[in-house]
Amino acid sequence: MFSELIGEIIRMVKSEIKRKHYVNLNKEFFMARDIFALLESNELSFMAKRVLKNNKKFFGNVVFLYAPLYVSNYCVNGCIYCGFKNSNLIKRRKLNYDEIRKEMLYLKKSGVEHVLILTGEDPENVGVEYLYNVIKIGKMFFKEVSLESYSLNEDDYKYLISAGLTGVTMYQETYCIEEYAELHPFGPKSDYKKRLNTIEHAIKAGVREINIGVLYGLCDPVFETIMLAYHMDYLLKTYPWIEYSVSFPRMKPAYNVKFDFEQVSDKELIHYILAFKLLFPRVHVNISTRENENFRNALVGVATKMSAGSSTNVGGYTIYKDEVKQFSTEDKRTIEEFIRYVKSRGYNPAMVNWV
Ligand code: SF4
Repeated sequence: MFSELIGEIIRMVKSEIKRKHYVNLNKEFFMARDIFALLESNELSFMAKRVLKNNKKFFGNVVFLYAPLYVSNYCVNGCIYCGFKNSNLIKRRKLNYDEIRKEMLYLKKSGVEHVLILTGEDPENVGVEYLYNVIKIGKMFFKEVSLESYSLNEDDYKYLISAGLTGVTMYQETYCIEEYAELHPFGPKSDYKKRLNTIEHAIKAGVREINIGVLYGLCDPVFETIMLAYHMDYLLKTYPWIEYSVSFPRMKPAYNVKFDFEQVSDKELIHYILAFKLLFPRVHVNISTRENENFRNALVGVATKMSAGSSTNVGGYTIYKDEVKQFSTEDKRTIEEFIRYVKSRGYNPAMVNWV
């Protein structure tokens, strides 16, 4: 498990990050340790050209689209950066199966074929049985159903796969161990290593797609990017058959969140993404509607997975439109508008990755 190596890798990264590094940007393949030099390089346009060329070679002109669907905001955790944290006195909801069908029908009519089901963490209110049923319903509407929820064990993931689960998204949020403890002061999510191990439980259970990431703004972004690279390197070497994506979300304002987060500029984030893509040309980069229209437009072609028309509150598409969101989104275009934009750039907006 990566969690057994994490202490050693963090020590190495903290020591290396203070040194200067060099890499020949023309070389064909990069190694994980090249991430240091790539993050020190100023050759962003050269890197961008190489990434676009690689993407064309490995993915063609395709951008895979998906939509998130929040089914519950019950949460026993206290993540200080989140609008759904337990201490926020907000209306808590869990959609019933009829409401879920209504939300799914709306997404289906927009052309969506891949839905990402999201919940907070509250196994008493939102147990594995409920998730199983949500996925089962999801499979009646969509070709792909992924899950972004709380840490489950291997048997639970096997059970959900039997309902049709295709992918799991699990962000470590931050690889900085001490900050992790401060940012997650209570609840099961405060266990750093348990969270880190969850991805491997899902893989061993047989899931096909894995999406990892950090939440930029919680800790030193250069350190986070390097750790993300070492984590992906480990996953690719240990479980090479999985289709991997990495998200690069930045912290956005959320209800009653007064946390003073570290700002990451557009240029810095693009640099992290390009460096990462040079190391891992076959790994998808996923950019959500957290980011604004201009930023997302600039990344079409670099990112090969993108959400569209997203609502980030429970039942937010058709039922409870004005309730508290997990975080605010900036790209307000509808799915149809985003599809038109992707086409106008000469890319093929693909609604499904697996048939
Ligand atoms: S980030 Fe997830 S686990 Fe943490 S408080 Fe928000 S909904 Fe709960």
